[in-house]
Amino acid sequence: MKKTTNWLNLLKTLNFAPFKRDFMTPKQIKKTDNNSLIFTWSDGNISELTYKKLRDSCPCANCSGESVILHSVKPQKIFLETPGRYDLKDIQPVGNYAITLVWGDNHNTGIFSWDLLYRLAKLAEALEAQAKQKQKDHDHHHDHNHPGNHDH
Ligand SMILES: [Zn+2]
Repeated sequence: MKKTTNWLNLLKTLNFAPFKRDFMTPKQIKKTDNNSLIFTWSDGNISELTYKKLRDSCPCANCSGESVILHSVKPQKIFLETPGRYDLKDIQPVGNYAITLVWGDNHNTGIFSWDLLYRLAKLAEALEAQAKQKQKDHDHHHDHNHPGNHDH
């Protein structure tokens, strides 16, 4: 008798481990009136990335530097802030794994994969939380340390 592998059962026993990577896809990408994009991720999380953050994170070779053999070619430190640099003109899908952002200065060579966008969103969240914590520490700076009152 020929035995066939039941892949679904096999995957169940593995608890879908191969697919449990930290890999999110956006269910929705929405422009706001506030120069930012709102991403609704496949896990239900919602994150916001400003145009400035996105443009400054442009992954194209021009913006982020290109690795040539063993040398890393750094992008030019001085760039002219071209008009429209932070204006998002268009969003174009790249396959089903990424988007290209078209900027007001016609720069459009950066391919933002879901993975990159998700990591940028998480980074932005972490930085925001850090800034909030700093503010909190600052606010508490002048407080006296009150010991807790215990009722007997
Ligand atoms: Zn770029």
